[in-house]
Amino acid sequence: MDHDLNRVNRNSQPVSVTDNKPIGVRVAEREGVFVNGFICQHCGLHFNLFSWKANRHRSDNTYCPECGKKGSFIHYRKALSSKQTRDENSKDEIFRHVPWPGSQLMNDSIIFSQHDE
Ligand SMILES: [Zn+2]
Repeated sequence: MDHDLNRVNRNSQPVSVTDNKPIGVRVAEREGVFVNGFICQHCGLHFNLFSWKANRHRSDNTYCPECGKKGSFIHYRKALSSKQTRDENSKDEIFRHVPWPGSQLMNDSIIFSQHDE
């Protein structure tokens, strides 16, 4: 089944993943592009978390996606970009890294269109 064809807005119009623009951080709040690498000290999971804010994600406010525990991580951070606006041509924007190249869209996705509020 091609899940791409199942994504529609409330008017039953097809919606592309690329139409889902970031809404979590307003343009004026963006500080750049950052990737936080976490290693969970409870279960050992390694995971990367991207953000437009330098200090939004810290050990004490991040939950491990594997074991659900909070607060005990080795935490790394790299600034991929210091640009305060999205650069469609940059290889360092988050949309270049997520989804991971070759990923399959999963059927548990919940996708809001721009017209759904
Ligand atoms: Zn864990």
